Amino acid sequence: MELTVGDILYMKKAHPCGTHEWELLRVGQDLKMKCCGCGHLVMAPRRQIEKNIKRISKETEK
Ligand SMILES: [Zn+2]
Repeated sequence: MELTVGDILYMKKAHPCGTHEWELLRVGQDLKMKCCGCGHLVMAPRRQIEKNIKRISKETEK
């Protein structure tokens, strides 16, 4: 799975605030991302996040 900083990730599971969209802020072994709904920041292992990704919207496709 190719992930780039700035990508918008649509997750299978919604955040408690109701949004499924997260902005990718940092890519490495751990991914850092920000909830587009409430601005909540999350850092988690890449493998764990990838399992929950439904769709990726690339910055360049906007
Ligand atoms: Zn949220």
